[in-house]
Parts: sequence; C-alpha cells; structure tokens
Amino acid sequence: MKDKVKREASHTVVSRTGGSAVRPLPGSPVVVPTRLYEAYIFDLDGTIYLGPDLLPGAKRLIDELRARDKPVRFLSNNPTRDRDMYVSKLTKLGIPARVEDIVNTVVTMTRWLLANHPDAVVFPIAEQPLIRALDEAGIRMSDNPAEIDIVIASYDRGFEYRKLQIAFDAIWYYKRARLVATNPDPYCPMDGGRGEPDAAAVIAAIQACTGAKLEANTGKPDPIMLRAALEGLDVKATDCAMVGDRMSTDIRMALDTGMASVLVLTGETTVKDLEGLSPADSPDFVLDRVDRLLPVRIWEELGWSDRDP
Ligand SMILES: [Mg+2]
Repeated sequence: MKDKVKREASHTVVSRTGGSAVRPLPGSPVVVPTRLYEAYIFDLDGTIYLGPDLLPGAKRLIDELRARDKPVRFLSNNPTRDRDMYVSKLTKLGIPARVEDIVNTVVTMTRWLLANHPDAVVFPIAEQPLIRALDEAGIRMSDNPAEIDIVIASYDRGFEYRKLQIAFDAIWYYKRARLVATNPDPYCPMDGGRGEPDAAAVIAAIQACTGAKLEANTGKPDPIMLRAALEGLDVKATDCAMVGDRMSTDIRMALDTGMASVLVLTGETTVKDLEGLSPADSPDFVLDRVDRLLPVRIWEELGWSDRDP
C-alpha cells in the first residue's frame, strides 16, 4: 500500500520571494512549492540523472509536468556533449526529448560568438562537440597564437601543456587575445561520489600564467542560458522554476533573474552548505528528491509515495 504524504504533518513556511511553501517532512530541511509554474527548467547532472542512472522520481515528474502541458527544458553547463547526445541519453533513460528541449554551453557559446564576435579567430580549448558546432557556424579557428583573438576555456579532457602554451602566447606574448569560458564549474559530479575537473580548472591555469581577466562566461549563472532556454516560450522568468543541484550556477542564475529557485540535494550541495546563508543567497525551495517539486496536494491526488522510483 502506498503511504501518502500527510498534509497534517506539513506546515506552511514563506519562501524567499514571498511565495507559499510547505515543509512536508517534519524536522527535515525539505521545503516544497504549493503551486505549479508556467514552465520548468532543469539542470541535468545531479538533478535528473547522476552518471548513467536516472535519479529517483525524475521520470514520473517529467511525465506528469508534460501531461499537465507545462513546458520542460533541460539546461546543462557541460560543453562535452552536443544536443543530440543529450536527446539520446534522456530518451534511452525513459525521458523522451527533442533537440529544442535542450540548451547547453555548446549552443550558448556558438550563439554568443556569432552575436558579438562573428569575425574573431578563436582557439577553443574544448572537446569535439564544441569544435564541431563552431565549425558548422562558420567561426574561424586557429592554433596560431599570432592570429588568435579569443581563447575559449572549457571542460576539456584533452587539456595539455601545448594548449596552455598557445593560450599563453596569444594572451600574454602577443597581447591580442581575450579570455572567455563556456562555464565556470569547478568539477562535474559523477556517480559513486566521484567527479571530473571542469572548465574552472582550465580558466585558472590560463589566468595563473597570464593574469588575464575572464571577459565572458556563457554558462549558468549567466542569464544567456536562461534566455536560450526560454526561447519560443511566451512566459516570464518570474513564472518559471529553475531546478538544479549547484548553488553557484543553477541557484545563482535563478536568484539573479527572479525565477523560483529550487535546490535538489541529489548532487553537489548538502544541507550543511545551506547553513548560515542570507535569505538573498538561499534557494526558495529545497528538495530531497526532484519529484517533490509537485505540490503536496498533487502527490496526494496521484497517490505517490517517496518509496516509489
Ligand atoms: Mg548539476
């Protein structure tokens, strides 16, 4: 028999933005919304899946939001995959997706360059998906430091001394290149509690030897990601919820753009990390599992239990 979330056990709290929220599990840090939003934006790693596995409740949550005609978008700072790779991973995991449902930093970096520096010669310290996208967009690439205008630091598992030397020469010796990055993440969380060094490590290596300032970041928390995610949807940011596991990217972007900020504790952030945060830096809602995003009354209507997958 399914044990329903008990409405009697919950008590109302007021979220940061003054919206209504409840604590469905007495004594727990979990605070859930009492309303549905017009659209939902989800981070992927640590929010929908961790490594090769879906996180508990992710599939039934997305199915339910779609059944209620709520637009769902997936947002990732990870530039080592292109949109087709996300479509096939999500679909294989039981969450069918279309290319237009997904925005990552391969998309935003390419668009940013086309909009702001269409004639620049770039040196991408990056894996194939970004290099392929830049090539398809007609952006000139070079590893000759004498002609590089922009060095792109990203999550690149092929990063090596040769690439650092080219960036150093272009920025420090020839004094012509500016430094930009796909995303600011320190590491990418993986299953088993492991992780991989992400773009922040590459940015830091270049800054350590050149002293260069990072002039742009096309990943969360920059609102460029939000604008790309909401493209084609007639909704205001304040009517959307952003759901993610990382305070410095997912939650920061939501706080800065007025979206409802929803932290899931299934990835990077722990309850301890939330202690002592000012209200301006705290998420509106905190979930122990992503499907807790649906209000308690909908859990009751659907007969959901947190013992279900
Ligand atoms: Mg994440």
